[in-house]
Amino acid sequence: MFDRSRRNLLSRRRTPALQRMPWVVDEDTFVDRCTRCSKCIDACETQIIVKGDGGFPTVDFTRGECTFCTRCADACPEALFHPTSEQPWGLKAQISQNCLAHHKIECRSCGDMCEVQAIRFKLQAGGVALPELDLDACTGCGACLSVCPASAITMVTKELEEK
Ligand code: SF4
Ligand code: SF4
Ligand code: SF4
Repeated sequence: MFDRSRRNLLSRRRTPALQRMPWVVDEDTFVDRCTRCSKCIDACETQIIVKGDGGFPTVDFTRGECTFCTRCADACPEALFHPTSEQPWGLKAQISQNCLAHHKIECRSCGDMCEVQAIRFKLQAGGVALPELDLDACTGCGACLSVCPASAITMVTKELEEK
């Protein structure tokens, strides 16, 4: 029988390919009102906004990080962004078991990139230091994702983390 709780979990997961820009309104409203004019894409200072499914703009963290510069929101002619004084989004980084440190290979690339020091390394007896994520400190900027040599980092919504 189909596992409803699993379906709910999967449907709530937001993969990077579907991730909208910070401060964006709910998905239904966004898809309804976005004219796909690409003004946010042109405005993004780190060029992480790309045309996704159906030509709708999405954030691709494999291209870099969000600096929360607000240019996408400022450039949008439609009422599609919440005020940028509010929390940008509920995104958080998530580190999987693919992390090299879990396989006894020294790596601290993600921690080096994290401006707010949300990733700290804890020494293990007889092993290499493992990354530990401070979810309260993580802003969901995505700076750690593209530098991970093991593709062990994904960006997920807070709801998923809380499950
Ligand atoms: S806030 Fe700035 S860096 Fe982030 S997606 Fe918008 S334009 Fe790009
Ligand atoms: S960059 Fe990737 S492999 Fe390296 S410590 Fe961080 S999660 Fe692990
Ligand atoms: S998403 Fe940004 S704030 Fe969060 S751990 Fe990665 S680099 Fe740090």
